[in-house]
Amino acid sequence: MSKFFSKKHKSLVPYVPGEQPKNSEYIKLNTNESPYPPSKKAIKRAAEAAKWLQLYSDPECSLLTSILARGLKVAKEQVLMTNGSDEILNFAFMAFCDDEHPAVFPDISYGFYKVFAELHNIPYTEIPLKSDFTINPDDYIGINKNIFIANPNAPTGIALSLSDIEKIAASNPDNIVLIDEAYVDFGAESAIKLLHKYNNLIVTQTFSKSRSMAGARLGFGVACEDIINDMNTIKYSTNPYNINSMTMAAGVGCLEDEKYNEDNCREIQKTRKYTVKELYKLGFTMTDSITNFIFAKHEYISGTEIYTALKNRGILVRHFDKEKIKDYNRITIGTKKQMTALVDALREIIAQY
Ligand code: PMP
Repeated sequence: MSKFFSKKHKSLVPYVPGEQPKNSEYIKLNTNESPYPPSKKAIKRAAEAAKWLQLYSDPECSLLTSILARGLKVAKEQVLMTNGSDEILNFAFMAFCDDEHPAVFPDISYGFYKVFAELHNIPYTEIPLKSDFTINPDDYIGINKNIFIANPNAPTGIALSLSDIEKIAASNPDNIVLIDEAYVDFGAESAIKLLHKYNNLIVTQTFSKSRSMAGARLGFGVACEDIINDMNTIKYSTNPYNINSMTMAAGVGCLEDEKYNEDNCREIQKTRKYTVKELYKLGFTMTDSITNFIFAKHEYISGTEIYTALKNRGILVRHFDKEKIKDYNRITIGTKKQMTALVDALREIIAQY
């Protein structure tokens, strides 16, 4: 730490991203990326846009926003595109949380919520999940704090029903309820359809998972127009050109090819089913994940041992040290071939144990 680092950040513990090895020697099942390449239309449009990189990108992201809004059946004024959905989460913490509007989120959830709260000096509460790793919606009824819930939750993969989300939104009319739907396309129901009823609801999604564009950094938020305007105030006060023109163009190409993305999601669902079945046979227990990852614990081998043994065999999964979940590993669903390699490696590890 330099002597110049502001004392307000001295105790900040930054978010730790999953390992991103630069070579392809690993089967990479650790950061919930899609195993499939982006749509060819996205690649083509990004390459065309690269010819114009001497110009700034469109700060309003107009074309992409209009196409996306049309697909979501909302007004374009209700959508804000961001540099990954991490950015819209950051905007929401900055725009709506302060001493009088503290944040609340589950104790086991996306690690960035806590980092954003600490970065912006926002008081926050972490509500424990139930012992089966589900969220108890009653914990959030009338809580009078700004609520951040990943739905489906990560790293558990378990979703709340839309009716539970509706109860939470309805009982906290003076607070923001942000539903982070990074993994919604793999089997959950989006809360976007509740937006016309609740002006305190924000739904965020990403192109990183179901749309195979993690490296492009593209996400978005949908909410009522006033909320989007507030977040735009933050955007124009931090980084007006938050999305680069290649990513914008890739996003348009990607949306022109939604069938490709949907087919990939269906394939991942099938592969998830296969993996769950095989892992049960090997003595694992898993949460009921409806995402592109599973959260698995072995009956007698520790989470760290599984993680290390897999890494030694060239397979990367994600292990979290947090006490409550240290027996588990989060495993991204890759291609059938990758998951067969995972199952074979696990069989070998267990046989040798
Ligand atoms: N929300 C959740 C629950 C996530 O797991 C992630 C990915 N790490 C994100 C948001 C952010 O993803 P991105 O910034 O790539 O859109």
